[in-house]
Amino acid sequence: MIVAEQKPIAEIAGYLDGHKRVLVLGCGTCVTVCLAGGERETAQIASVLRLSGNGREILENTIERQCDAEFFDAVADQAAGCDAILSLACGAGAQMVARVFPEKPVYPALNTKFMGTNDGAGEWSENCLACGDCKLGVFGGICPVTRCSKSLANGPCGGSADGRCEVDPQNIECGWQLIHDRLKALGKLDALSEIAAPRDWSKTHSGGPRRLSREDVAGL
Ligand code: SF4
Ligand code: SF4
Repeated sequence: MIVAEQKPIAEIAGYLDGHKRVLVLGCGTCVTVCLAGGERETAQIASVLRLSGNGREILENTIERQCDAEFFDAVADQAAGCDAILSLACGAGAQMVARVFPEKPVYPALNTKFMGTNDGAGEWSENCLACGDCKLGVFGGICPVTRCSKSLANGPCGGSADGRCEVDPQNIECGWQLIHDRLKALGKLDALSEIAAPRDWSKTHSGGPRRLSREDVAGL
C-alpha cells in the first residue's frame, strides 16, 4: 500500500486561509488502511478545522479511491459548492482531485511517505520503489533496490556490520545481509555467484514520469 501521514494542522490551516467553504475529502483505500486519511481521520480534521472558528464552513466526505476519477460523482455537488478542497489522499489522489475539479484549489492534508507494508500496530516500512524491473525472484524475495540503502545491485558494501547498515545501524538492517541469509535458507546461495548487471534506471522515475498502457483492457 501507499503509506502516508498527516501534515501538521498549522500547515493545513495555513493553506485554507481566505477560503470560506471547504470540502475535506478522505480516501477509502491505502490511506484508510494506514490510518492517515480515511473516514475517521477526515472527521477528525474536519472537527479541528470547525473548532478553529473563523466562520469557515467545513463539509466532509470520503470516497472509495481518489486516484480513480470514476468515484468522484458522489461528491460533485459538494465540491461545486466549495471554494477549496482539502485532500486526505496520497499525492496521486490529490492530483486526481485537481484534475477532476480543475476550477477548485486543492490542498494536501497528507505527506505521502512510501510504498510499503504494515509491520504491526502503528508500524510501516518501505519495501518497494516501483523500479519497473522486479528482481525479487532472483534475490530471495528481498528487494535490493529498497532494502539496501545504496540500492546496490551487488552487495553487501564494506559498511555492513553485524547485519546492520552503516547508514543507520541502530534502525536499518543490511538489505544484502537479509538477501544472503534468505538465499542460504532456501539453498540458493549460488544466485549470488553471478555478478548482477547494472540496473536500467530508465525504467524507474529517473527516466521521467512513467505510463502504462494496456490495449487488452482499453475497451473493457
Ligand atoms: S525489485 Fe523493483 S519492483 Fe521489485 S520490490 Fe524492488 S523496487 Fe519493487
Ligand atoms: S550496509 Fe548493507 S544495506 Fe547498507 S548500503 Fe551497504 S549493502 Fe546496502
